[in-house]
Amino acid sequence: MHRIAVYCGSRSGDFSVFTTAATELGSLLASQGIALVYGGAQIGLMGAVADAALASGGDVIGVIPEALMLDEVVHTSLTRLEVVGSMHERKARMLELADGVVAMPGGLGTLEELFEALTWAQLRFHAKPIGLLNLNGYFDDLLSFLDNSVSTGFLSPQNRALLLHATTPESLLHRLVNVA
Ligand code: AMP
Repeated sequence: MHRIAVYCGSRSGDFSVFTTAATELGSLLASQGIALVYGGAQIGLMGAVADAALASGGDVIGVIPEALMLDEVVHTSLTRLEVVGSMHERKARMLELADGVVAMPGGLGTLEELFEALTWAQLRFHAKPIGLLNLNGYFDDLLSFLDNSVSTGFLSPQNRALLLHATTPESLLHRLVNVA
């Protein structure tokens, strides 16, 4: 596994545990020689994971649409910044660059990115492992909802199993690397 895409909030959330884990994840990726692919912003958990990876000597590739460079305060110290034309290009490029995907707590943008990676995996457009970092039970209801989709007959157990999850960056990365 050479590169992992991390989807996470452009905000930091209301509990310090989120920023602490973003920092842990960034450092962990760098220490394992895995480059971080992310949205290229300086703000929120996105900034925290990138800053930590860079501070630990890791490579960080940001992919940002031109129209968001001001709103999301583009990070100016990345190993590489790719400026793309749209959100669609951003998601496609991030997934293309990565060997695996991690979603951390975030808002609508994070969920959208996660579900695109999952639906593309479901359609067998890629076979990259996808992991959810479930900090402080943030995603408990989402995981229950997916179980409900299985028991209601809208989601197959095989496709439900595409989403790995763990409660610490270390255990999640371990899972991702072992299924890859
Ligand atoms: P959020 O989780 O809402 O804080 O957003 C996290 C990141 O996802 C931000 O960089 C957003 O710009 C990005 N984002 C939001 N919507 C989309 C989308 N439709 N496609 C790609 N990225 C998005």
